[in-house]
Amino acid sequence: MAKRLPPGKCVHCIRFFEKLTWDHVFPKSWYPDTTSPNLEKWKIPSCKPCNSEYGRLEDDLMIRIGLCLDPNDPKSLGIPQKAVRAISPQFAKDENDTLLRDAKCRQILGQASFGHNVPDHGMYPNFGNVFNVPKQNQIAISISPESVRRLTEKIVRGITFIEDSRYIEWPYKVSFYALHDKDAFPVVSLIKRFGKVYANEPGIIITRAVLPEDRLTSLYLIDIWGRFKMYGHVGKEGDRLSA
Ligand SMILES: [Zn+2]
Repeated sequence: MAKRLPPGKCVHCIRFFEKLTWDHVFPKSWYPDTTSPNLEKWKIPSCKPCNSEYGRLEDDLMIRIGLCLDPNDPKSLGIPQKAVRAISPQFAKDENDTLLRDAKCRQILGQASFGHNVPDHGMYPNFGNVFNVPKQNQIAISISPESVRRLTEKIVRGITFIEDSRYIEWPYKVSFYALHDKDAFPVVSLIKRFGKVYANEPGIIITRAVLPEDRLTSLYLIDIWGRFKMYGHVGKEGDRLSA
């Protein structure tokens, strides 16, 4: 496998850089413990600032989503445990790490809702009270829609590059949709009928249906840990999927 990257464009910001870094389409920490150690993880060329910025965003999302997953599900085994450790100062490596974990814990709990303050709407699809926890014991963790949109964009750009060595540039753009399974049915059947599956199982399954004429216009279904689903659309500026 190529180790050093030649000068070129960053898959995320499409700017030219003399020095590029390898960026994992999914961070290594997102692969469940049930993943084969020999699995080749997708990597793409990225500039250092985009790589670092996505690293922070992914660490934050892994904790927030991980806290809501079933700790015994093989599709996400080890992720909830990792999320808990990331906000537990007793697992810190040093003093600075203790402060960081403590601050992260305070931030997430400060933005969470508890018991009867947990809202009945606005839950991410497939989340909400799936474990039938009594209202007074519920905790709702908040996630930023902008972070999820950016993550979708990253994955879509990454798979497009891996498959076709293409960058998504103007007039093409990536849009993100969060859909409930029942509403997503027509889109999912279309994607599955015409799409190709890119799987890093058991945790990560992506299906992409692409228009053969331009190899860019496409629909993506991104399924992480069997729970967290994101829908992506690549189209020309002005093209919109009707809801
Ligand atoms: Zn960049």
